[in-house]
Amino acid sequence: MQAPQRIGPFVYEEHAPRPPALIHGLDPQRRRVAIAGGGPVGLAAALALANWGIASVVLEADTTVCDGSRAICISRRSLEILQRLGALEAHLAKGLPWLGGRTFHGAGEILHFTMPDDANQKLPPMINIQQYWIEQFLVDAAASRHGLVEIRWGTELTGFEQRDDGVRLQARCAQTDYAIDADWLLACDGGQSFVRRTLGLKLEGTGFDGKYVIVDIELPSRYPTERRAWFDPPSNPGSTVLMHKQPDDLWRVDYQIPDDADLDEAMKPANVAAFVQRHLDFVGDGELPWKIVWISAYRAGAMTLSSYRHGRILFAGNAAHAMPIFGVRGLNSGFDDADNLGWKLAAVLHGWSDERLLATYDDERLHAFRMNAASAIQSTEFMAPPSRGFALMREAALTLAHRHPDIAQFANPRQTSVITYERSPLNRPSDAFHAGPVPGAALPECPIRGPEGIAHVTDLAGPYWSVLVFSADAWLDPRLDAALREREAGSLPFRTVVIAARGRPWADERRALVVDGQARAAGIYGADSGAVYLVRPDGHVAGRWLRQDAPGLRASLDAIAAAPART
Ligand SMILES: Cc1cc2nc3c(=O)[nH]c(=O)nc-3n(C[C@H](O)[C@H](O)[C@H](O)COP(=O)(O)OP(=O)(O)OC[C@H]3O[C@@H](n4cnc5c(N)ncnc54)[C@H](O)[C@@H]3O)c2cc1C
Repeated sequence: MQAPQRIGPFVYEEHAPRPPALIHGLDPQRRRVAIAGGGPVGLAAALALANWGIASVVLEADTTVCDGSRAICISRRSLEILQRLGALEAHLAKGLPWLGGRTFHGAGEILHFTMPDDANQKLPPMINIQQYWIEQFLVDAAASRHGLVEIRWGTELTGFEQRDDGVRLQARCAQTDYAIDADWLLACDGGQSFVRRTLGLKLEGTGFDGKYVIVDIELPSRYPTERRAWFDPPSNPGSTVLMHKQPDDLWRVDYQIPDDADLDEAMKPANVAAFVQRHLDFVGDGELPWKIVWISAYRAGAMTLSSYRHGRILFAGNAAHAMPIFGVRGLNSGFDDADNLGWKLAAVLHGWSDERLLATYDDERLHAFRMNAASAIQSTEFMAPPSRGFALMREAALTLAHRHPDIAQFANPRQTSVITYERSPLNRPSDAFHAGPVPGAALPECPIRGPEGIAHVTDLAGPYWSVLVFSADAWLDPRLDAALREREAGSLPFRTVVIAARGRPWADERRALVVDGQARAAGIYGADSGAVYLVRPDGHVAGRWLRQDAPGLRASLDAIAAAPART
């Protein structure tokens, strides 16, 4: 299947819909997984399943990747996931890395923030890249998966019926209606999810009053890539403006209008142009030629389904939850959904785990929603105070922030960060360490020396469970070694990585030795020689022990392969 081609700025080649060969209106090929929606989350889920050899069919109503003003800020954690999906290089080549930003009150700068970054990191804390590029790179990655990801462009899901062993879907493509059977349906059909509405499910949570106009403009500004936020600037008195640089000389300008303003009027191109010119004059770019590319409106909400599994249907991305754009947790959390669900559904489909494993998708991703929503709500309320009292407090904080840097932290946008599943049922009873990731946390980054030179700890996660064994001299206790070899030879994909203080790096399919010559990883992981970390395929720690014997390790590995009990 040929990928849609981008044939110029903001112009996409249509991808012709092709109905399949049918027998009495039924696609004769039953699918293990059908995915409704080929947005970034549906495509990421298809690629995550393909990593485990699971084929899927993606039904996408449109005939192109998206256009318009959608996601632009992609986090380090999402880049790690994109690496697992085989799409990292394209994102790094196109995206604009950035480290922090500035917040202004009136015309004065009150905060210059930086996101966590240090010499141990392989990836930038954030890149800016348009969502249509993200989708295009995922489509390109899908094209190299040897038929494991079939994208049916121009194909709308129009109905479905749940059965004991799967779902019968109704699809429409180029005026042809047909049925398709699948064992599982992933609902990745976005904020207006047809699947969600058809099941009569509703998102629950908080909606916000603030009204925002989002405009993307072409502007050859040389200003660096950082997030700029203004409170009460001369260009938008009493209100807010955000600005972000994107590749290809595009800029996102996002400004709030009064609650009682007429949104249709505010969105008229002449009114938007007048605002943009006023703001560009204010920031010193007013002399540059610029033009509007897209105008849209936005209202924030932090809402979720109460469960992401409904029989044989699993929800992910915007179909499952809505997140305010402030703090950029929408698509970033959708990628985490796909990364989390991919290996769990694959484990069920391969017969390594029973369906109860899928309950942990709910546990973990609903927990992530709550954590994300708490931060996003704080940021949203600071951007658009929900009450007069809140507005007065914000004004006081902003005014004091000119002289008191600590108070300026209130205006820190609290960008998305990695979620720890502290209470996941997948976490194994573990030892207390003096440092390092607790069970449920994602692997912290650190350079190590692998067979091909410098590599990083996060490169060690993949479509397998892994055990990291820290060792002074590459020696392993013979009984532990035997238990590990037993698992390496088993059917559950499993890998041992010895992190040695010295030695010669090597790797084969099931075992690797990497070198931590300056004990950096040992320090970050609080790991003396003999310490063991058990790592899930999505790079989260499942357990850790200062020492582990063979029976203890066997018990933990048996427990993670079986479906865990729900807490
Ligand atoms: C202005 C703006 C800025 C944003 N900025 C950021 C940001 O910087 N960082 C971030 O992380 N997030 C951001 N987001 C959020 C991000 O865009 C969404 O979270 C993301 O698009 C969700 O992806 P998705 O695949 O779940 O849904 P969608 O992108 O909505 O994709 C759903 C797909 O399903 C298809 N579909 C729908 N119904 C059917 C059907 N019946 N049959 C077949 N196909 C169907 C649609 O055509 C679409 O392609 C932003 C959003 C907006 C609006």
